[in-house]
Amino acid sequence: MPKLFQEQIISKAMEMLEKYPLCDHCLGRQFALLGHGTENAERGAAIKLVLTLGAHALIPTEKRKGIKLLKILASNGFSENAKETLCKIIKKPLKEPLKMCYLCEGRFKKIQEFVEKALKKLNSYEYHNFVVGIELPIEIEEREDEFKAEFQIKYGENLRNEFGRTIGKKLSEKTGKPVNYKTPDIVVLLNPFTERVRIQINPLYIMGYYRKLVRGIPQAKWICTHCQGKGCQKCGGTGKMYLESVEELISEPILEITQGVKTAFHASGREDVDARMLGTGRPFVVEVRSPKKRFLNLKSLGQTINAHAKGKVEVLSLKFADKTVVRRLKKAEAAQKLYRVIVELDKEISEKELRFLERKLSHVTIRQKTPRRVLHRRADLTREKYIYKVEVRKLTPKMVEMRILCQGGLYIKELITGDEGRTIPNVSQILSVKAKPLELDVLEVMLKEE
Ligand SMILES: [Zn+2]
Ligand SMILES: [Zn+2]
Repeated sequence: MPKLFQEQIISKAMEMLEKYPLCDHCLGRQFALLGHGTENAERGAAIKLVLTLGAHALIPTEKRKGIKLLKILASNGFSENAKETLCKIIKKPLKEPLKMCYLCEGRFKKIQEFVEKALKKLNSYEYHNFVVGIELPIEIEEREDEFKAEFQIKYGENLRNEFGRTIGKKLSEKTGKPVNYKTPDIVVLLNPFTERVRIQINPLYIMGYYRKLVRGIPQAKWICTHCQGKGCQKCGGTGKMYLESVEELISEPILEITQGVKTAFHASGREDVDARMLGTGRPFVVEVRSPKKRFLNLKSLGQTINAHAKGKVEVLSLKFADKTVVRRLKKAEAAQKLYRVIVELDKEISEKELRFLERKLSHVTIRQKTPRRVLHRRADLTREKYIYKVEVRKLTPKMVEMRILCQGGLYIKELITGDEGRTIPNVSQILSVKAKPLELDVLEVMLKEE
């Protein structure tokens, strides 16, 4: 007749204890998937108690066997009940052998200490949630794997899990913050064996739209190409090609307020230094590394940034984001963009020719080789970009305003000049003139919604 399940559990537990010293946590953990709403330590203690009762019951009939089992439970099982029972039977105090749990080496006893250490580190940060990551010495993990194979553990949990779960629960009780496995603000990394506790602060992401209201500011901080940022005569010791950038004007106040270590600026495309960015603005994300403060009032943050940027740059609609937004921004090149460009022509052009230009450049695919002006930093490729619509308005006999709605990534200046035939078709070629862009503004950047 097959053994009852209860008996299987009990006899397997006894087999384990005969061979290895196991604390309540580590014995109970081998049956972790059985019975909900209880902790491994309780499971382990309960099993040991049942084993102690069973061994005690053997004393009247099989005294030697009963004593042997009680001895195992008292030493390898660290069981106080077994110890007391045994003392009563043999009528003398037990010698206490110094044993250590084979699997955790007694580390569960130190949990409270680990929790205190982690709390101390967490203290200086603002966060919504966290997760605990456990680092284990390889030999400990291997030992556990071999143990599980030896006893064919089917319902067990691993050591790493139990440490992480237990410490997470205690930290959660102390801090009032929930554990979040998917997108935690903070990761507490803890090695119960070396007792090293570190914390890893995940970045804070703030997204919004910026408008660049003046020309002559690059989007990104531009390191001096002459001195590589060390500071030289050419850059007046600043290490930069331009004193200010959209990136710096926006990021500086954010870094200060969040008390982070540094920031990264991500935007969906960029306008040229001499182009403005108007309309509803260009989407951007500022990523703050290791922020101490996260509980920000974004409305007042926006006001602070705008005051700092003194009318050169303005931010709108700030909101909290996550790193998926950065990925979306970066591949949003396919988004539509609306440009306004003032074009100077080297001869007078009729209204009829302008309508012809509109027709020739609407609903058309432009083939564009990498512009010569950026060839030094971009690969020489041919891109195909679509223009949805072009509207042209005459300002003076030799000057027109064009509004171009196109796929992101089209180089507008080259669309005007033709870049010596590297962009086809182009305005110069269609009108048989020499066309030159004077002013360029980005009016809208439309992100593709996913
Ligand atoms: Zn243990
Ligand atoms: Zn320099």
